[in-house]
Amino acid sequence: MKIVSVHEDTIPISSTMRNAWIDFSKMDSSIIAVVSDVIRDGKPLVGYGFNSNGRYSVGDILRRRIIPRLLAADPADTLDDAGTNISPEKIWDIVMQNEKPGGHGERSVAVGVLDMALFDLAAKIADKPLYRHLSDTYGDGRPDEDVFVYAAGGYYAPGKGLQELKDEMKGFLDLGYNVAKMKIGGASLSEDLQRIEAAIEVLGDGSRLAVDVNGKFDLDTAIQYGKAIEPYNLFWYEEVGDPLDYQLQAELAKHYPHRMATGENLFSLVDARNLIRYGGMRPDLDILQFDPVLSYGLVEYLRILDMLREHGWSSRSCVPHGGHQFSLHIAAALKLGGNESYPGEFYPTGGFADEVGVEAGRVKLPETPGIGFEHKAAFYKYLRSLHD
Ligand code: MG
Repeated sequence: MKIVSVHEDTIPISSTMRNAWIDFSKMDSSIIAVVSDVIRDGKPLVGYGFNSNGRYSVGDILRRRIIPRLLAADPADTLDDAGTNISPEKIWDIVMQNEKPGGHGERSVAVGVLDMALFDLAAKIADKPLYRHLSDTYGDGRPDEDVFVYAAGGYYAPGKGLQELKDEMKGFLDLGYNVAKMKIGGASLSEDLQRIEAAIEVLGDGSRLAVDVNGKFDLDTAIQYGKAIEPYNLFWYEEVGDPLDYQLQAELAKHYPHRMATGENLFSLVDARNLIRYGGMRPDLDILQFDPVLSYGLVEYLRILDMLREHGWSSRSCVPHGGHQFSLHIAAALKLGGNESYPGEFYPTGGFADEVGVEAGRVKLPETPGIGFEHKAAFYKYLRSLHD
């Protein structure tokens, strides 16, 4: 058993929306295909990955460092101890050779793209849907059969007023979501409060609306907004200050009594541990949003979950960023609190398998081997063309 070739490319996932920090007009994503010599139904098994969203493609790092190290390795060193499947853990060590600690940034995304494809391939070799493979390998063998998801949207966009925002929220309810998220911090406080009240009017209650600042606020603004939104008792107040400003997060927790969420822009075990050590996050209340793809893949995410356990956190406090199928499987297998979902954004990578619908705010998983990209027709077309 061996990996015979790796193919990567970049696809646009652009749109006209923006959050408090960036617009998405130039956003793109790396996609990757890892081809094995394992033949099933007359065809080689292939694992696929892509780099979530919100960070740009990482083709240069993949082509110059990560993929060559994998292809240069002795195939025997890439297998698990039984020699019956590839080992994403051993391959992680191989592709991270000669990389200094710290400065995780885009390298962690490149490793995460490959990691997703390796786990897709490993589950296909095991002939199981990824969530069952992960539950059998790393969990208790009894995965959750469905996963809580919330609809992430409410972006700023040209020509989008209060009525368009309400229509969007209504659309999320019609799709089966119970909880939705919107962006704030890209307009004045009074304008954002009007937007929040418009969304709550449709959702029925503040506890069904999360707001996301995308790291924009300084401490004074964070507290000012916190005081203004406190009466709404929102689902959560997300990524309020710079993701690496743990002191801001800790100070804000003294002023804002309701749930906060952050972590989508922390890309390593060490960064995640610093948030837990110094960020004042409350294990009985707050939510951690580390994205397994952006942060060195599931191999590193498993280390993060171990660290959280040691610090008294439940895996149920984790609701990963990204809205992708990979995290959905991880959430079911490792009993996380849920997963983000982007019903209307990031075409063609966003969203789950085509036949997967949301019911009462929860989604089931596909029973096809691997992650299930083959059941996401518009995206699978790009993935298959990598190696066909
Ligand atoms: Mg966010």
